Amino acid sequence: MPHLMNDPADFADEALAGFVAAYPRQIRAVHGGVVRRRRAPQGEVAVVIGGGSGHYPAFAGWVGPGLAHGAACGNIFASPAASQVYSVIRAADRGAGVFVSFGNYAGDVLHFGQAADRARAEGVDVRVLTVTDDIASGPASEPELRRGIAGDLAVFKIAGAAAAKGMPLDEVERVARLANSRTITLGIAFDGCTLPGAEGPLFTVPENHMSLGLGIHGEPGLEDRPMAPAREIAELLVKRLLAEAPADAKRITVLFNGLGTVKYEELFVAYGTVDSLLRKADYEIVEPVVGEQCTSLDMAGVSLTIVFLDDELESLWLAPCNTPAYQFGSVDEPAGADDDWDGSDDDVEVLDTIPPATDESRATAKQVALLLDSVRAVVETNETHLGQLDAVAGDGDHGIGMVRGVRAASQSASELVAQGAGAMSTLSRAADAWSEHAGGTSGALWGAILRAVASHLDDSSAPDAETLRLAAISGVNAVQELGKAEPGDKTMVDAMAPFGASLEKAQMFDTAIWSAAVAAAHEGAEKTANIVARRGRARNHAEASLGTPDPGAVSFALIVACLGESAATLARPPARNEH
Ligand code: ADP
Ligand code: MG
Repeated sequence: MPHLMNDPADFADEALAGFVAAYPRQIRAVHGGVVRRRRAPQGEVAVVIGGGSGHYPAFAGWVGPGLAHGAACGNIFASPAASQVYSVIRAADRGAGVFVSFGNYAGDVLHFGQAADRARAEGVDVRVLTVTDDIASGPASEPELRRGIAGDLAVFKIAGAAAAKGMPLDEVERVARLANSRTITLGIAFDGCTLPGAEGPLFTVPENHMSLGLGIHGEPGLEDRPMAPAREIAELLVKRLLAEAPADAKRITVLFNGLGTVKYEELFVAYGTVDSLLRKADYEIVEPVVGEQCTSLDMAGVSLTIVFLDDELESLWLAPCNTPAYQFGSVDEPAGADDDWDGSDDDVEVLDTIPPATDESRATAKQVALLLDSVRAVVETNETHLGQLDAVAGDGDHGIGMVRGVRAASQSASELVAQGAGAMSTLSRAADAWSEHAGGTSGALWGAILRAVASHLDDSSAPDAETLRLAAISGVNAVQELGKAEPGDKTMVDAMAPFGASLEKAQMFDTAIWSAAVAAAHEGAEKTANIVARRGRARNHAEASLGTPDPGAVSFALIVACLGESAATLARPPARNEH
């Protein structure tokens, strides 16, 4: 089915801009996402949610009184970058702390975590909760393995209601954690979805089959079964979910969610059975929601969420809210102008001016930009291959994410060079641009690599060989610090660790030493084919990853190889000190 779009690369940004235009009385755009048009009273805890785009109304559609104060919006199926989340946190903050919540995906965990740290360093009290409602992605005993899907709505709604009641940050966090621990979801897909501009679907479900537990980014399902009537699908979902029901709950709320192409009439047909089965099981259903709340582009499928209420959760679930996509009861909004923002455009993200640089450092900056451009070319050439590797057990976006990241980084570096920036400023801006545009886990990690390398440079001198060696080693360490993966976890660390070890052992630096490190990276990447994934999205489908190398490890080896080749063709920096 053709998509209604312009340049696919602009799809998420244009969709968000159009959404803001469609709800001018409710929503305001800020860097990295949206906030409420009319701000909450000073002294109210702010609830900031977010995640990748492609799931509307998750997440921007849930911003409004009684629910979220702001949403950070990433690219399609990719986490917003830390700088974007940070910007939304600052814009939403009303002086009483910020409660930040999002679905449990590695990229989101990294970016939201970094953003929270940055806001905390500036004195904002920030609490973070990852939603883990999807029972298909891990056992009940290991909730940290579970992804966040449609149950997001219940957790965010309860947190938003608590904030609106004036509860302090500790309490907002407490009820949201409680809600998360009592919210479970199971999804089922009948057909895959297609990323705007992609040639084919991201994944498919075998003809006349349905895939139980398939994730909202097309992470493979747990079990394929023959397609069944609505009644049987409803029974299957209810039965699997009730197997995890807490003994004490008698009152529940239910979200029966369409993933993209299932018509409302179809949802109602199946919901009829859901309703009667739950009543037969002696549950009282409190204000259910049937409709599209957490979608996956044009995926065909449904999910069923049950929230096991207690009195407190029930009263928060029943509190009024008014957002573009979900309304309940009637909300008293403070009187006054529609837009009571104090400043005219107090976007938090103000780009600083470019620090002065020497000619020497500008020459290095130019080389940085050329190197990034050669990396861009190599990543573009390998985009499809990297996507295919990631599709085996992950979500298929590694190629697209890397291309977005490196294009933005390369473009930003050229702009900085044109403005006369030095090497450190050029590479740090490129690092931010990479993570903002790539989203995803690898976007956060590549941003961290470039930032770590940049921290060894400055805007006044050209780096000598030893500086370059240490910079490369600290890029490797940054990934291990941020991502916490160990060698053997089947991540890019399996290519990076031998690369870093080879540079460390060398004690000096020249092209032969770089080549040896690159060979170690390639070897490490190839060996990941023999490992079962334990981290990142691929860990949910660990067995499927056997036989295929890790996409992040493969792209790392390609990039460092390209850097070696391109550096060899560049003129040596004038002050490179190798005598
Ligand atoms: P996402 O996983 O968010 O879809 P990508 O597909 O772009 O992001 O990147 C996936 C790659 O990220 C994996 O192949 C792996 O190399 C790397 N990765 C995931 N988690 C970690 C981690 N904790 N540490 C290091 N690398 C990781
Ligand atoms: Mg991926």
